[in-house]
Amino acid sequence: MGYDVVVVGGGHAGLEAAWAAAALGVRVALVTVNPERIGTMPCNPAVGGPGKSQLVAEVVALGGLMGRAADATAIHTRMLNRSKGPAVQSLRVQVDRDLYALKAQEILAERPIEVLRGEVAALWVEGGKLLGVRTVDGRGIPAKAVVVAGGTFLGGVVWYGRRSRPAGRQGEPPARFLSQSLKAVGHTLRRFKTGTPPRIRADSVDFERLEVVPPEVPPGSFTGNPGPFAAKLPTWQTRTTERTHRLIRENLHLSPLYAGDIVGIGPRYCPSIEDKVVRFADKESHLLFVEPDGLATSEVYLQGFSSSLPPELQEEMVRSLPGFERAVIQRYAYAVEYDSLDPTELTRGLQSRFLPGLFAAGQVNGTSGYEEAAAQGLLAGLNAARYALGLPEVHLPRESGYIGVLVDDLVGRGTDEPYRMMTSRVELRLLCRADNADERLIPLAVAWGLRSKEDLARVEAKYRRVAEELRRLEALRIEGVSGLQWLRRPENTYEALLERFPPPSPLAPEEAYQVEVRAKYAGYIERQERLREKMRDLEAHPIPEGLDFPKVPGLSREAVEKLSRLRPRTVAEAARVPGIRDSDLTALLVHLRRLA
Ligand SMILES: Cc1cc2nc3c(=O)[nH]c(=O)nc-3n(C[C@H](O)[C@H](O)[C@H](O)COP(=O)(O)OP(=O)(O)OC[C@H]3O[C@@H](n4cnc5c(N)ncnc54)[C@H](O)[C@@H]3O)c2cc1C
Repeated sequence: MGYDVVVVGGGHAGLEAAWAAAALGVRVALVTVNPERIGTMPCNPAVGGPGKSQLVAEVVALGGLMGRAADATAIHTRMLNRSKGPAVQSLRVQVDRDLYALKAQEILAERPIEVLRGEVAALWVEGGKLLGVRTVDGRGIPAKAVVVAGGTFLGGVVWYGRRSRPAGRQGEPPARFLSQSLKAVGHTLRRFKTGTPPRIRADSVDFERLEVVPPEVPPGSFTGNPGPFAAKLPTWQTRTTERTHRLIRENLHLSPLYAGDIVGIGPRYCPSIEDKVVRFADKESHLLFVEPDGLATSEVYLQGFSSSLPPELQEEMVRSLPGFERAVIQRYAYAVEYDSLDPTELTRGLQSRFLPGLFAAGQVNGTSGYEEAAAQGLLAGLNAARYALGLPEVHLPRESGYIGVLVDDLVGRGTDEPYRMMTSRVELRLLCRADNADERLIPLAVAWGLRSKEDLARVEAKYRRVAEELRRLEALRIEGVSGLQWLRRPENTYEALLERFPPPSPLAPEEAYQVEVRAKYAGYIERQERLREKMRDLEAHPIPEGLDFPKVPGLSREAVEKLSRLRPRTVAEAARVPGIRDSDLTALLVHLRRLA
């Protein structure tokens, strides 16, 4: 039987891709080596955090499943950066690792998605046309569109010290052949690497010696529905010691990275403990987070302690940490090296520039993290379904939020290390907050068939009430100024205002929050709105597809080289290419005006 969309991979990108494609009513199959492991979290058992929680909020707004699975299986939640502004406040939800995967599989089963067991060996291409995929046993699976979401599995090699073996991650075989097929289509592959910390047997840890971080009560959630155990468990903190650092420094030659065995480039913002000790040599100690792996599991996860040093040494390193003097390692830390695509060879809808109907999402596009993978999976799955239906590709512009920035950065600039989302990458972060993702994206989700019209009606009603309340505050007089001006004073709160001047009907807590943010940060919000106009203005200057950049008078040599390679579609995209100067943009604008 033929499919409209075949998704290769059951990780966080593959899950969202299949889920989004199925929302459009097309026939979807998800092919994965091991269906029981769909939704596995190979690294930390947590969703969200700075930059990432905003991605999850957008995935939720666009009808994705990650937020639902995380909320249902949460065991501890925390709002990070609470003392900072609303732009950077970020929810982090610690989940039960096993339950998360089961919940994700349960949600997936709500839509008619066929899960097939198999290793995809190649794209099935005839006469330059994509016909589907072929598995290692020679089976052909016909499909109009294919989403490759192979994660760390393509050409995967895991490293424990200087010993390596082919694997996609611990205990799972690599995808041995798919890389060749992607290369044959014309894609460039690079070697990236990432790593994970050791898991420790919980009953071997002296928790009395650790600093406790209690869960927040009431718990936070991505969907407004925290699960039954969301405030159940604490997490803990410990620190590296002088002995830990000495052990690492004295044994760096045993690290495959420092010995030069690993050629792949690792994530700068998620460095191994070896990297931290070497790069920040003057730092005496590094903070580590000790996180439970689940409600009933016997393991704790040592966040911040990822390593590729040999297992014997890991024992000593772990035992040098306060509270871990008698620790028993259940699973050793390791690094994984894998093939990843150059994302500049994709469109903004995550489609291959070389083979129509081929899409790619997740770690395979050069990113790192579950949330980054989920966000891309959703977009790629949506566009794969649209391709199968003969509809044009859609994308999220940069100014629409975090997913827009993620894709724009990947496709427009590329990345030479595993890309991780951060709030600082988003110019309009005060406009594109996690709390207003519903307002920004639900209208698009409804237009694209990812959510229902009732959802749109609900969100419109919510923001109508917010607007009405803002108008009421504008008209209110308090201490000689309007209610809005009064609220802008740092010492005043909306809660205090409500006590004195309650509205005709009370607002829901999430509506009241919107009112307070909009009133308190009005000045900054206006400034960002002006910046958005400027971005849109540059966006409104398209660059003709075949423009011969060497013939644009006044462009620097660097600009000619980079713009010819990256082929930005608008002046705004050209402006974001690193190394492009204002003088290059002026030259480009003058030239475009002349052409017009
Ligand atoms: C060791 C390790 C360390 C990590 N460290 C970090 C970190 O420090 N920070 C961070 O943010 N993230 C880290 N991650 C990354 C995080 O796990 C990924 O970003 C995320 O899981 C990517 O999701 P994905 O869907 O792209 O791929 P994955 O979750 O890797 O899923 C890939 C899926 O594709 C399937 N598959 C692959 N090839 C084929 C094929 N040919 N045929 C059929 N099925 C196939 C696999 O079976 C799997 O189901 C780490 C991952 C690993 C393995």
